[in-house]
Amino acid sequence: MEKLSALVSDFDDTLFFNKSALISAAKDLYETLLKGNEEEDYKTFNDLEITIGEGKIPNGFSKKWKNELYTLAYVKYNNKLSPNEPFINYLKDAVKQGNELIVLSARGEEFRKETEELLSKYGLDYSKVILPANHEFKDEEWKLLEVKKLSEMYDHLVLFEDKEENIRHIIRNLKPENIEFYLVDHSILTYITK
Ligand SMILES: [Mg+2]
Repeated sequence: MEKLSALVSDFDDTLFFNKSALISAAKDLYETLLKGNEEEDYKTFNDLEITIGEGKIPNGFSKKWKNELYTLAYVKYNNKLSPNEPFINYLKDAVKQGNELIVLSARGEEFRKETEELLSKYGLDYSKVILPANHEFKDEEWKLLEVKKLSEMYDHLVLFEDKEENIRHIIRNLKPENIEFYLVDHSILTYITK
């Protein structure tokens, strides 16, 4: 029996850019912590300054505040996420031509509502959104496990992702025969060879 093929796309910084949402969230949290009574260490403030400046979260960012920061970015500042329109249009065309679209994101089940709202707002017709129910695995490990499951369910997958290290991690550990990988950088799609 013929099995299906699917397009599998990451969400943050692939379909939607989260930089300005993260900057607003970091400013917000910075102010809250400054006013707060709790003692905060130097590193937390320093890391928040990096996020305010660069729009990304440094490695080793405080576990205590990470979820708070993402919640501010993905809920309160959801309207600051901006669409990667050329890529969204590319996927919309592919869906029109009969391809199935699956969104695979490590952002977390807690952000399902906001995630699906943005996809619908930009007219992306997806079959499912896969998010981790909890954060027991590191993002790249969780993604690897989910891609493995999908590669067993489908004959062929085309995966889109903005982090090359995530793609390399999957290629190294899965040695996938039936997956094509594309690195997404705004409108530029780069085919990653195994
Ligand atoms: Mg991403």
